[in-house]
Amino acid sequence: MGDQSYSWDNFLPYYLKSCNYTAFNPALYNSTILPQEPGNFEPTGGPLSVSFSNYADAFGTWAQKTYVSVGMKVLNSLNAGVLNGSAYSTLTIDARDGYRSTSESSFLQAAILNGTAPTIYKNTMALKVLFSGNNTATGVLVRTAGDYGTNALNFTLSARKEVIVSAGTFQSPQLLMVSGIGPQQTLPKYGIQVLKDLPGVGQNMWDHVLFGANRPVNVLTASAGLNSPITAGKLVDRFLANGSGPLAAFGAGYYGWEDLPNPYRANLSNSSIAALNTFPEDWPELEWLPISAYLGYQTNRQREDPRDGYNYASINPGIIAPLSRGNVTISSADMTDPPILDPAWLTDPADQELAVQSFKRSREMWQYLTSQGITATPYETLPGLNVTSDQDILTYISKSFMTIYHAAGTCKMGNTSDSMAVIDSQARVYGVQGLRVVDASSFPFLPPGHPQSTIYALAEKIAADILGQSTPPPGYSMAGYYEARSNLSQARSNGIGGAAQSNDAGSMFRSPGSFMLLAMGAVSAWALYFL
Ligand SMILES: Cc1cc2nc3c(=O)[nH]c(=O)nc-3n(C[C@H](O)[C@H](O)[C@H](O)COP(=O)(O)OP(=O)(O)OC[C@H]3O[C@@H](n4cnc5c(N)ncnc54)[C@H](O)[C@@H]3O)c2cc1C
Repeated sequence: MGDQSYSWDNFLPYYLKSCNYTAFNPALYNSTILPQEPGNFEPTGGPLSVSFSNYADAFGTWAQKTYVSVGMKVLNSLNAGVLNGSAYSTLTIDARDGYRSTSESSFLQAAILNGTAPTIYKNTMALKVLFSGNNTATGVLVRTAGDYGTNALNFTLSARKEVIVSAGTFQSPQLLMVSGIGPQQTLPKYGIQVLKDLPGVGQNMWDHVLFGANRPVNVLTASAGLNSPITAGKLVDRFLANGSGPLAAFGAGYYGWEDLPNPYRANLSNSSIAALNTFPEDWPELEWLPISAYLGYQTNRQREDPRDGYNYASINPGIIAPLSRGNVTISSADMTDPPILDPAWLTDPADQELAVQSFKRSREMWQYLTSQGITATPYETLPGLNVTSDQDILTYISKSFMTIYHAAGTCKMGNTSDSMAVIDSQARVYGVQGLRVVDASSFPFLPPGHPQSTIYALAEKIAADILGQSTPPPGYSMAGYYEARSNLSQARSNGIGGAAQSNDAGSMFRSPGSFMLLAMGAVSAWALYFL
């Protein structure tokens, strides 16, 4: 967009502002390479707890060896500005007790404990943004069902300054559309008066997908608990006792990124190579996500596991330079009716070719694991080693792929020359006043890493814009927070020996690229802030 506040050096402080980092426990990761880079975090970081699992997953340690065997280099960190390579990922996890650090348990609890919490309206849904005659947002019509099943009640929340919508990739464009901001060709069909014709609302949906082959392995995976209720009970006991064990791990924990290499790349068509070349040079085309579980057709990981006594795992390529674009639209003028989604996953021929070739590369990785004695049978359980032609592989992928849940871009940020832009670089909605959209829908494109850290950073950046602060932003006022949090989690953390604490200061990031936080599940963000 030409806005230098989004250059790596200028945007980096907003990544750093949210996180407080706890180093991993070296004793847990003694059989693998896990360099520490506490210098990628700041001692003055915010309330979001970032660390590693209190358990080194066995298949993750083999994933590392596998990636090295096929030519991926081991990175010191995924937070140092470079993604091409492989490393353990930092997680939004509280290393003291192994529980997830969510937006609620971190930002909101910090605000409550610091006495700066906003007013929260629970069980309350935004139905419509309200505008004055000159297209200035004045508030939001909301509906609350109250507690304990009380009747629904509609009321208006008035904005003193602005309305900020953060309803996510699907509901933010829906809320804009039912409020009169969106494509002229759509809104009148539902009796909605058009306040501003913005054809880009609901368009430009990016997402990442993953898929892979499933094989039995000779290391413990999630299948163990599914095969045996007794084992499952032991795993639960272990997690509850000290926040460790397999249930403390976020998958295999170890991830890789690369461009599709030869000989697979040579099988891509010229048009696909040209399409992939439109991405920046340091933007990887594939992510490698090992999963210590049977994925099957990804309809239900518990029920699909064969439960035949074997431990199952999969090594999955994810398409992270996708060319397919989906969209979101409305089915009525009522927010309580779900929006209509067309994710259009894998519809672009370049995505399909990349998917097929990456699947073939995943079999090269399985060959390495077989040579190391990690596969438990000579067979591939799904789809089966007889599935070899491009068409058959694509058919399998189209039946078994799954989103990585990274949908973004449906209220795209862009400058005035972009007819599909919905918001400017300070997240202000074009054509109206006093309205911003700040969430994953605001992204002009979906970065190749996982989006959570960038969503938090964007929120920090727009907050600084609103407050008129220049970079770097000041750190959080954490006075009293750590002590209060420690008291609150006393019961939970009693007897729990988490990772060693470390908040060493160090060098700033050096080059453009990545900042990775893997959420342990979905982030729950506040829907609306009123300033
Ligand atoms: C299963 C799963 C696993 C994931 N794992 C990772 C991961 O490991 N790493 C990573 O980086 N990302 C991960 N993601 C993606 C990440 O969670 C999302 O990108 C992120 O949460 C998007 O943030 P957001 O603020 O845009 O929207 P959301 O987090 O979806 O927040 C939107 C909020 O608005 C509320 N809302 C919607 N409509 C209304 C309304 N009308 N009125 C009031 N409130 C409303 C919703 O209830 C929700 O709380 C995962 C997602 C899922 C679903």
